Amino acid sequence: MTIPKTGGEQGYLRIATEEAFATPELIDAFRDELASPDVDPGFFSLIGYYLDHPAERPRFIAKALNDLGEGRIADMDARGIDRQILALTAPATNVLRDVDRATMVAETANDRLADAMRQYPDRFSGMAACAPQDAKRAAKEIERAVTRLGMGAVIINSHILGEYLDNPKFSEVLEAAEALDVPIYIHPNTPPPAMIGPMLEAGLDGAIFGFGVETGMHALRMITSGTLDRFPRLQIVIGHMGEALPFWLYRLDFMHQAGVRSGRYEVMKPLKKGTVSDYLRSHFHITCSGMAWEPAIKFTQQAIGEDRVLYAMDYPYQCPVEEVIALDAMDMPLETKRKFFQTNAEKLFHIR
Ligand code: MN
Repeated sequence: MTIPKTGGEQGYLRIATEEAFATPELIDAFRDELASPDVDPGFFSLIGYYLDHPAERPRFIAKALNDLGEGRIADMDARGIDRQILALTAPATNVLRDVDRATMVAETANDRLADAMRQYPDRFSGMAACAPQDAKRAAKEIERAVTRLGMGAVIINSHILGEYLDNPKFSEVLEAAEALDVPIYIHPNTPPPAMIGPMLEAGLDGAIFGFGVETGMHALRMITSGTLDRFPRLQIVIGHMGEALPFWLYRLDFMHQAGVRSGRYEVMKPLKKGTVSDYLRSHFHITCSGMAWEPAIKFTQQAIGEDRVLYAMDYPYQCPVEEVIALDAMDMPLETKRKFFQTNAEKLFHIR
């Protein structure tokens, strides 16, 4: 097996666009939430596992998340990853019920990430964390993180204490991202209490399935609610090969149009651009985090366009070097592969 190298000798750099880190302030806040008697069941299932389970995988992940230095660089070198675009790990601030503390966690994370970006300018880029629970302060922090710290996107870990970004209370967050010309990356969270029951019962609440269902629905709500008609220039990024939405597109379009025509739901009004696919093709970018699978990548390129599909690894949660080797070997024109691994990310996240 030839280990992939950094430096671009294969004709493109590899930019991994959904890579996670943690901070001491976030871990402390997670610990306090975990200890609360009314802890969110999805959060308890997910973070209880990663912070405290003795198995090898969660132990590696907990250690790697907290490393923004040489350990991470060594892992990138060993996998041929030229650059990581870093985001505060899920569910980050979204699960914190103390809004002041959530805001502090976001601000300190942005400062720590900016330090790491200054130390390794050719290896790290970043997304702005915020605490959308207080949309006004979140918008201010997004502006600070983009204009002063050089972040190229906003990370939102899906539902915010059971609420979704199409709720007008979060409008200032969307306004800030649109005005600053940075995308919002909607990263998975475990399903909220109203949704998680039968998934948790079967052990399907996390990355195996619950993440995709919950986050796919979040993305879909942004479309069907008409929210993207209110923010016509806003770009959204979703991972995991689009949380299955590309595969559903035909049926989504058919049933959405049927529902709109019949006036079945008060909340589902005609959209300015037309169908669900029209929005996926004009407002969304999709990364292959956790889905290093050639047929799914090609299908998504075909469904929404090769300018909108990007590489991601999902370090440290899923990072076998074999996945990089498999994607390098995809039967795909070099020009398309360069868009996938490098240039789409450079454009979207303003990497110079
Ligand atoms: Mn991820």
